[in-house]
Amino acid sequence: MANKTKRQVRIDRAIRRLKITLECFERLGGAKCVKCGNRDIRILTINHLTKKSEWDKKNPNNLRRFIALGLRKPTGMEVRCHNCNILYEYERGRRIDVRGRAQER
Ligand SMILES: [Zn+2]
Repeated sequence: MANKTKRQVRIDRAIRRLKITLECFERLGGAKCVKCGNRDIRILTINHLTKKSEWDKKNPNNLRRFIALGLRKPTGMEVRCHNCNILYEYERGRRIDVRGRAQER
């Protein structure tokens, strides 16, 4: 059997990640932004409704895998697109919006 090309290795890895992501989103209620309804898997992400737990901070790359495998309860999280996720963070004061102040100068 011939060795896989680097490109094929990357494609296989991306497919494995996609399967994990889809299973994770399914456990979080579906691959759809809860705010705007966007279903584009490329821009969907996990929104933490509350502060990230210490475990989540230490294992950011394993979160989707653990949820997909049922090893982590999908509580306190929801699926959002990146735009709605960032707006959520502004609304909760997790990001500071200084554009108004910059315009005052
Ligand atoms: Zn959205």
